[in-house]
Amino acid sequence: MLRDESKLQLATEGTCAFCGKTRREVRALVGAPPAATVVICDECLALCCSILAEQAGVPHDAARNESAADFPNEKLDAILATLAQRPPTKHPHDDRYRCSFCQRPRREVPALVAGPGVFICDSCVGGAVAIVQGRRA
Ligand SMILES: [Zn+2]
Ligand SMILES: [Zn+2]
Repeated sequence: MLRDESKLQLATEGTCAFCGKTRREVRALVGAPPAATVVICDECLALCCSILAEQAGVPHDAARNESAADFPNEKLDAILATLAQRPPTKHPHDDRYRCSFCQRPRREVPALVAGPGVFICDSCVGGAVAIVQGRRA
């Protein structure tokens, strides 16, 4: 499963856990209800896409994608597919870090992007971007 869309959905209110912007300041916020206490905005998702692209070694022009709403779908698929092929990390302290959206620990996800006290895994980034773009299955 490359995109964990099962629990994520658009949030009508809240503050982005990564940049602190409110719903009015961004195009979209995505969280995991019912306890959608942690939400991420479309701009931070675009940044996460850039970070993941770098980790996956996929060429990407970050300046052209300020919102996840504009991030090329094929590119995101390539990034997620590349990351999914990575061997699992063996870091001994990985259990301390888990995705704030799907709750999976670091050792179970190919990549984890850190914010201020929050984390989002690659498949939640993929799922959230799909939701922002209205491509949710
Ligand atoms: Zn944000
Ligand atoms: Zn996750």
